[in-house]
Amino acid sequence: MSDSTRIVIVGAGHAGGTVAALLRQYGHAGTVTLIGAEPVAPYQRPPLSKAWLKGEADGDSLRLKAPEWYADNGVDLRLSQTVAAIDRAARTVRLSDGETLSYDKAILATGARARLLAIEGADLDGVVALRTAADAEVLKTALAPERHRVKRLAVIGGGYVGLEAAASARALGAEVVIVERESRILARVACPILSRFFQAYHRERGVHFILDATVQRLIGEGGQVKAVHLGDGSVLDCDAVLVGVGAVPNDELARAAGLDCEDGVLVDLSGRTSDPAIFAIGDVTRRPMPLYDTVMRLESVPNALEQARQAAAAITGRAAPEPETPWFWSDQYDLKLQIAGVPIGCDDLVVRGAPDAPGFALFHMAGDLIQAVEAVNAPGEFMVGRQLIGRRTPVSRALLADRATPMKAVALCPIPSSLEAS
Ligand SMILES: Cc1cc2nc3c(=O)[nH]c(=O)nc-3n(C[C@H](O)[C@H](O)[C@H](O)COP(=O)(O)OP(=O)(O)OC[C@H]3O[C@@H](n4cnc5c(N)ncnc54)[C@H](O)[C@@H]3O)c2cc1C
Repeated sequence: MSDSTRIVIVGAGHAGGTVAALLRQYGHAGTVTLIGAEPVAPYQRPPLSKAWLKGEADGDSLRLKAPEWYADNGVDLRLSQTVAAIDRAARTVRLSDGETLSYDKAILATGARARLLAIEGADLDGVVALRTAADAEVLKTALAPERHRVKRLAVIGGGYVGLEAAASARALGAEVVIVERESRILARVACPILSRFFQAYHRERGVHFILDATVQRLIGEGGQVKAVHLGDGSVLDCDAVLVGVGAVPNDELARAAGLDCEDGVLVDLSGRTSDPAIFAIGDVTRRPMPLYDTVMRLESVPNALEQARQAAAAITGRAAPEPETPWFWSDQYDLKLQIAGVPIGCDDLVVRGAPDAPGFALFHMAGDLIQAVEAVNAPGEFMVGRQLIGRRTPVSRALLADRATPMKAVALCPIPSSLEAS
């Protein structure tokens, strides 16, 4: 790659900001232009539903890089700018203000957006989907106690973002009710034991749940949301509604440019799309999962970081990094949930510890192999479990279930040296 290689990154989020920094770290000397639709430089989203919402972190601590880093490192950061179109033949992108930029390599890091509810009242003030810092600001303001009146938050959707926001809202003193369409929370993303545990933990801390429920419409007064009308006719009074019903990939730009997409931009293990001059990374992609012989769309910071490393390595001519075992975390109250792997093709579940109190782990097994681990305040189980998954190390189910047996002793073959300290 020559010093004059021009790189345009579309999307200044976690993946886009990280790949810009890695390109410089890996020695890319050509231009880097980082274009973001939001008015703020790349920041971390996870605290928006956790520490930041509770007032335990300020905006500065969310930033990926200090504001001066971009100019100091020759990264041309263009904020409040959207890339409207890609001309693959001319290798240009067109910005919302009409400017056209040429690229030798483009990286799409456009992320995902919150899925909206197509119901009456979804556009009322006080109805928010938590994806951006601006959304989080609206929610925090709506939850601030007013003249000693406790605020009431209705959360639609019992997924991770909804549960985290519920825990933060309780810490702010708000009343919280979670309305879930399925018969259990976390139905799409966790096993029933974990769903039961988290529901009980939230309930003990004052969160109300309405399961198997449909939301018919949102009712407002003077343009401000005041209540949620459910399918069974009941009405929940509220001051704010958080819609947490998942995210959809921002892959329209890629589709319009004719790149191969399938609910996300299809990429290889270098982040390359069907056009070798265009890479895609982060939430917007559907990527290979070598451990599971499938392709998936992952919405997590570790995935955004891994794909940023893959693309930066490929563009700068470095060796491809080893594929990682996917992982994710969620913080709620004093709980840290850590999940590694994906429970694909499993025939058994091994429970280590008592799943009615923090400090347990659930291992999803395919024969002697761990496919995934869900650990609640059990960092050792998570860490070793993740490595055992990645190395395809067979384990003894009986030893795994026995909390008295150290994790490093559950393997059925010589333990890799890197696990010995665990
Ligand atoms: C509230 C919340 C809590 C989370 N908690 C966790 C957690 O605990 N653990 C975890 O692992 N993950 C968590 N995540 C997920 C994690 O934040 C995402 O996986 C990560 O941000 C993905 O990075 P990304 O760069 O792909 O997308 P994003 O961070 O969404 O960035 C994409 C950016 O591209 C911009 N953009 C889109 N289209 C264009 C365009 N055409 N032109 C210019 N710019 C464009 C968008 O405005 C956005 O700024 C959380 C997410 C949220 C919202």
